[in-house]
Amino acid sequence: MDTMIHVRELRKTYQMGEIEVPALRGISFDIQRGAFVAIMGPSGSGKSTLMNLLGCLDTPTNGQYRLDGLPVEQLDRNLLAAVRNRKIGFVFQQFNLLPRQTALENVALPLIYLGGVSAEERHARAQQMLELVGLGDRLGHRPKELSGGQQQRVAIARALITQPALLLADEPTGNLDSRSSVEIMRLFEELNSQGITVVLVTHEPDIAAHAQRVLSVYDGLLASDTTPHARRDVHVPAGSIRNGDAGAIGQNKRRPSIVRRPPVMSMRRAL
Ligand code: ADP
Ligand code: MG
Repeated sequence: MDTMIHVRELRKTYQMGEIEVPALRGISFDIQRGAFVAIMGPSGSGKSTLMNLLGCLDTPTNGQYRLDGLPVEQLDRNLLAAVRNRKIGFVFQQFNLLPRQTALENVALPLIYLGGVSAEERHARAQQMLELVGLGDRLGHRPKELSGGQQQRVAIARALITQPALLLADEPTGNLDSRSSVEIMRLFEELNSQGITVVLVTHEPDIAAHAQRVLSVYDGLLASDTTPHARRDVHVPAGSIRNGDAGAIGQNKRRPSIVRRPPVMSMRRAL
């Protein structure tokens, strides 16, 4: 089996002065390449702590984490940053876009950090990613000139521009209305169907229903691991997605245009 994520007895204890806060108390699971997994659990149960560890944004206090075969817990700070930049795309509830930069500039930003990519290529790839998420006509818009759903799609385009094999999303629909949430989930499904491994945190069962597998976290421990069903299709009335808003996503049902674009198709091969 092709394992993307392998964690064993993962522990994270935060130190608050004299007090130790055990946020993760020994969690073990594997996630296969190409999977679509939801992580659920009440507030404070350790979901974001787990995502930060999986995303190499933080290191565990104890336990083992192998990402695509790499022993993450043994890597130094520089290697950890390199792994994060090359393999992982991160999407947050708060979008985290730079307010004064255009959609195009926000999406191109990770390529500046990665280095070695010309301005021309950064521009071309950012445009391609925005087209992929259905925002080809919003390149020059700043975040406040976009709806919440559109801002989250800019953030997803930004997460994808480095062609990660793993997309991590921490409550990506937490700030969105229900229709935008469905559109964002469809986009994740579309990306997953192209081979990107998707792990997302949610506490909404409707959102988790898009995943093939649900891990429940409770009080820093894995409470359940279920594969309730193959992914369920979400039915949105045909007229309810406006053109130019979610046009590209709507069209993908009929015409898998994303699949023809080279960057996403080459993601698995590149890594
Ligand atoms: P969730 O995302 O499920 O709401 P978190 O992973 O954010 O949960 O938090 C798990 C526990 O760890 C909580 O008790 C929280 O207060 C604590 N915690 C989270 N981050 C920190 C931190 N940086 N410092 C200290 N305690 C933290
Ligand atoms: Mg959280």
